[in-house]
Amino acid sequence: MKFTPAKSPLTGETLESLTEKLRTQGEPAFRAKQILDWLYKKRVRSWDEMTNLAKPLRAWLADSFELMPVTLVLNKQSEDVTDKLLLGLGDHALIETVIIRVPQEGVGVEHSRKTICISTQVGCAMACVFCASGLAGLKRDLNAGEIVAQLLQVCYREDARTPRARTELASFDNIVVMGMGEPLANYDHLIRALTILNADWGLGFGARRITISTSGLVPKILKLAEEDLGFRLAISLHGATDEVREKIMPVNKAYPLAKLIPAVREFSAKHGRMVTLEFILIAEVNDSLPQAEKLRDIARDLHAHVNLIPYNTVEGLPWKRPSITRQERFADVLRDARISVTLRREKGHDIDAACGQLRLKTEDDRADATHPAIAPA
Ligand code: SAH
Repeated sequence: MKFTPAKSPLTGETLESLTEKLRTQGEPAFRAKQILDWLYKKRVRSWDEMTNLAKPLRAWLADSFELMPVTLVLNKQSEDVTDKLLLGLGDHALIETVIIRVPQEGVGVEHSRKTICISTQVGCAMACVFCASGLAGLKRDLNAGEIVAQLLQVCYREDARTPRARTELASFDNIVVMGMGEPLANYDHLIRALTILNADWGLGFGARRITISTSGLVPKILKLAEEDLGFRLAISLHGATDEVREKIMPVNKAYPLAKLIPAVREFSAKHGRMVTLEFILIAEVNDSLPQAEKLRDIARDLHAHVNLIPYNTVEGLPWKRPSITRQERFADVLRDARISVTLRREKGHDIDAACGQLRLKTEDDRADATHPAIAPA
């Protein structure tokens, strides 16, 4: 399903594209930068606050652009570790943006490492059997403006938390493209959005602190390898053999490990940075020692970091996380081989429970006719 917004979102404009549109109105070249400063640096939320613009220009802008294409529907905080923003789009579709705070030893939660997890599609077409996001299939791609607007909503949220010392987005450590959707299936909008996040006239967020996670779309990984952008890459591996992987990830049929692994190798070679292999541990599915040994071999070959994630149960799905002993035994195979590995255990459910679960719940509630109305922030 395609969604064509009545007005184009301002958050989808680059400095170049906005300059060009303003030029047709007889505006000087510096005007676009002024407007983007109001949006990204001063973070105003109405056209009227852009006080150095003449009134007729403000009126033209309001007629031509949507200042903010997403609205905050719900903000759910759990145990001070994750903050989930449920956001409504112009066609009332819902997406999630998650702020994850990982506390550091010996300091308060305000000094946590902060990661923002953003979505790139409404729903997902990849149909991984364990994932809540794909249960209802793909509804549509997000446009670049909707992807960028998620970050601005996070800024507004943080600005409101600390009104006196307005928090810069730079106070976040990482942005991960691991929310709803397959980012590389929405390639052009993704790249445009990340370019805006990265640009100094935009949010100014360093490319090396942005990670794109993919289920393994090989041609797009190769395309990304050719770009001169410096974003990091994570691969959702979840199976260390084709036999296991294709049972849980249909994408493995089109792009089996024999195609995926060389593509990842090429990406690492071109970018000179460690790629991350994500591996969810699901009891009785991919948590055996032979799987750990195969994963070890792949990680060694690719010089990759391995991120082991105990599975988060999804209502209505049968999958479970393995016992802690079993998780540790799996991780030990990698540690013994001196593979760089993380196994997130504490508050794992809280921390990783991004992936479409909040949206799913809200859409279910809507089906019961008791839905929360799409309310402005
Ligand atoms: N489509 C992209 C990005 C979105 S999913 C990808 O596949 O990488 C982000 C990550 O969350 C993926 O590694 C995905 O496999 C994982 N994931 C999905 N459902 C999960 C669950 N219930 N528990 C733990 N991780 C999950």
